[in-house]
Order: sequence, then C-alpha cells, then structure tokens
Amino acid sequence: MEHIETINSILKQRGYRRSSLRTHLMTLLVKRNKPLSVIDIQSALAQKVVHAHITTVYRELALLQKEGFVIEVQFGENKKLYELTPTDHHHHLVCLSCNDVQDIILDNDLDAAEHLINRTTRFKVTSHSLEFFGTCATCQP
Ligand SMILES: [Zn+2]
Ligand SMILES: [Zn+2]
Repeated sequence: MEHIETINSILKQRGYRRSSLRTHLMTLLVKRNKPLSVIDIQSALAQKVVHAHITTVYRELALLQKEGFVIEVQFGENKKLYELTPTDHHHHLVCLSCNDVQDIILDNDLDAAEHLINRTTRFKVTSHSLEFFGTCATCQP
C-alpha cells in the first residue's frame, strides 16, 4: 500500500494527525477498487477494525476530499459513492440490479466528442464525467 503511505506523509506535512481509521479507510478503497457508499465503508470497517461512527466516516471522507485524495461520484439523485482520486481517467458501469459499480477505461475516451463540441459550439470542455447504467454479467439471466 505504497500509495497510502504517500498520502499519509503528505497529510502529515499539511499538519494532520495520523489516524488509523483513515488508513484503514483508504486501504479499503484501494482493495475494493471501486466507488463505495458511506454505509459500505462503515460496515466493511466494522468487520475488520473498529466500529466507526458514521459521522467519523463522513468526517474522514470530507478531509480526504478536501485534500484531493478522494472524490465523490454522484449516481442518480441520492446515491453518492466515494473512491480514491483516480490516477487514470475512467468511467463507471453501474448495475441497476445489484448496484455494483465497475471502472471502465475507454480507448480515446471522449476526445472526438470534445473536439466536436469545441468546433460546433466554441464551448471549451475542461472535464467530463460519464456513467453507464445497465445490468452486470452476474445479474443477467
Ligand atoms: Zn449486478
Ligand atoms: Zn472520459
């Protein structure tokens, strides 16, 4: 978990006290390798480490988000999931049946679409996010 140690030392330089809950939380995000909800995070931590109050989980996520190490992904109206800030640029495949979320990297991404937008509307795209909704392999009959 080299990446996590790097984050921990950067946070230390920025004046944050080290927290074992935070380390466990980041380890979980690395291991699962997909966006997780606060409830997922809390129950996974409870199985492995300590029972962390939901407010504590929110607080750690907010801290990591503020410092740029975690991003919040919005799925639909009320569903917020969290993942470590990706080092690659990817999108998500969301199963509407089991709620599983997978990462997907697209060849050429949306470069062509961004060029088209730029050319036809003179709107300068600086970023995008894209989620695909459907049924995962396991949930298909
Ligand atoms: Zn599924
Ligand atoms: Zn993209």
